[in-house]
Amino acid sequence: MTKLDTAKLSRDFTKDISNKITSVPEPQGFRHFFYAMICTLCPRKCNIDRSEKKGFCNVNDTVMLARAALHFYEEPSISGKEGSGAVFFSGCNLKCVFCQNEKISRGLIGKEVSVEKLANIFLSLEAQGANNINLVTPSHYVPLIKEALIIAKDKGLSIPIVYNSSAYELPETLKMLEGLVDVYLPDFKYSDETMALNYSKAYDYPEVARAAIAEMFRQVGEPKFDSRGIMKKGVIVRHLLLPGGVKNAKNVVSYLHETYGDSIYISLMNQYTPLDTDSLKKAGEKYPALLRKVTKREYERLLDFVLSLDIKNAYFQEGDTASESFIPEFDLTGV
Ligand code: SF4
Repeated sequence: MTKLDTAKLSRDFTKDISNKITSVPEPQGFRHFFYAMICTLCPRKCNIDRSEKKGFCNVNDTVMLARAALHFYEEPSISGKEGSGAVFFSGCNLKCVFCQNEKISRGLIGKEVSVEKLANIFLSLEAQGANNINLVTPSHYVPLIKEALIIAKDKGLSIPIVYNSSAYELPETLKMLEGLVDVYLPDFKYSDETMALNYSKAYDYPEVARAAIAEMFRQVGEPKFDSRGIMKKGVIVRHLLLPGGVKNAKNVVSYLHETYGDSIYISLMNQYTPLDTDSLKKAGEKYPALLRKVTKREYERLLDFVLSLDIKNAYFQEGDTASESFIPEFDLTGV
């Protein structure tokens, strides 16, 4: 991933990867919100008791993790040289047909951990030298994560907390994290409702994501970095370019630029990998473009558009990054 500089394109994040491999308020009342009878944490509003059954996200009311380890695949201001302390949560409230982490997003892989154990995992990652705690797909566990962060911070956790999500979430849920999260790293997948419906069963995604990102920016504001270039505060919005998705991507970029200018970073990814999964095979019958990688020309058209807008705070990827080797092993490491 490279910082997009209109004068000089530099900082090759993908090259890095190939070279290496590699007093907050008490949580009064939120357990009631989550545990007692209904879960309305996200826009699905399943209204089910997760202590008794699973909702759309396919996990119950105990945190389930698939991996917690140093991770070197993120943007340079997140991974740095030392790595990001990535904690991969099982389950997801989207059902993307092209999901790159399907085994964990469907809640099929993972180990249940207590809130206290989760807090200790955060502290262990900090002890391993992680530049931050990177909460990957955390939305459906927010109250429990909040509790774990409070415990860990009380025990001395001091590195930045990165919230790495799909942006398909509610501002009121995100508000629970105010003062606890330092960096928001959401996707903005779709500007197009039909695409959002067809690919992720979420027609309202564009509207929901716009509101979620607004709340994230309200909480953390303009980007700030430490002396090594690691982000201490701020928002980086990711967009994974999909095959045949240049128009959708340009509309995402236009919206972000018009709304936030260079007060946020935009990360443009070309690493879409058509995996050999049943859901993608089925979707491919209707949307055959999803069965191929993004072409060089498609990505160049998007980057040309970004340059034409004179966006300075952006990252892009160099070369052919579509590869299953970018997907970590979900083997319960560190859990
Ligand atoms: S977090 Fe899960 S159970 Fe709760 S509303 Fe969202 S999808 Fe449904």
